[in-house]
Amino acid sequence: MIIAMQERASETDIEIVLNALLVEDVNVHRTTGATQTIFAAVGSTAKLDLNKYEVLPGVQKVHRISLPYKLAGRAFHQGNTVVEFANGATIGGEEIAVIAGPCAIENREQIFTIARCVKAAGANFLRGGAFKPRSSPYAFQGLGIPGLKLMHEAAQENGLLTVSEVMEISQIETMLPYVDCFQVGARNMQNFNLLRELGQIRKPVLLKRGIAATIEELLLSSEYILSGGNYDVILCERGIRSYEQSMRNTMDISAIPMVKKLSHLPIVADPSHATGRRDMVPAMAKAAVAAGADAILVEIHPQADNSVSDAAQTLYLDQFEKLMDELRIIAAAVGRGDMRNCAVA
Ligand code: PEP
Ligand code: MN
Repeated sequence: MIIAMQERASETDIEIVLNALLVEDVNVHRTTGATQTIFAAVGSTAKLDLNKYEVLPGVQKVHRISLPYKLAGRAFHQGNTVVEFANGATIGGEEIAVIAGPCAIENREQIFTIARCVKAAGANFLRGGAFKPRSSPYAFQGLGIPGLKLMHEAAQENGLLTVSEVMEISQIETMLPYVDCFQVGARNMQNFNLLRELGQIRKPVLLKRGIAATIEELLLSSEYILSGGNYDVILCERGIRSYEQSMRNTMDISAIPMVKKLSHLPIVADPSHATGRRDMVPAMAKAAVAAGADAILVEIHPQADNSVSDAAQTLYLDQFEKLMDELRIIAAAVGRGDMRNCAVA
């Protein structure tokens, strides 16, 4: 961390900053120039509070040089993290993965029909919500564990892996037998107690970007899981709130190459929640693969318009099949293999 003092900072101002730094767990280097004094703090600077120094008298500017996230950063892990699942499927390797399913598990017939379609289209991951974070407490809240059991059975029958959202710590234990990957939704990206608890399990976690979260905040949230020893974290860009009103959110495609630059963790793109419109989903899915996403997460349903939640953004099954064919072309064009993960069964 660098602290540049103002040109007219008094010796007392400089002393106050120096003394504040000396009680921190860092090495302090002072440069006294002809007009300006500069401090460099080296060592465990992650714990330093920049704001505390910015408001001290005589301070002109405070810069953090090292990144605040350690385990999620490229410096910690040079190669890309490849999350491996029990059946050999991977997220983060050369191959693009596809995670598809309904917003909410509704009934047996619905989830079995979808599972068969997901398998036939060549995707590996069946995703469905059993615990739904709804804006209204009066909206459908999900089937809970009975729903997860249905999805697990449908996945087993078709050789698929399951992904489902966990909303609170008490659900982790009961969900464990039925999910291969825990999703943390946008609203819970900063539920730090939940993240810490997910750091204690040994199953992958798909962490969605918060509605108004910066990339740095997303990476810091992942740090809560990683620091517990769970290194299988998959990040997810699902759109952020902007001033644009024509779509549910604004899909930040540029977050994909930026996350890739800053972090070794895989990144999934969710064009369904990002746009909220089924007519926009295929274009954004293709753009995300072209931009370097490691996987695509889409909502699909045989009667998309009748989905109990997120109907407008849900693809019909034939639209999903068509999208899979298009994604294979884009994946090959950007050197992401032949989507073996997504080979037609
Ligand atoms: C979901 O995945 O169904 C969901 C609620 O997404 P998000 O947390 O991104 O809003
Ligand atoms: Mn949804």
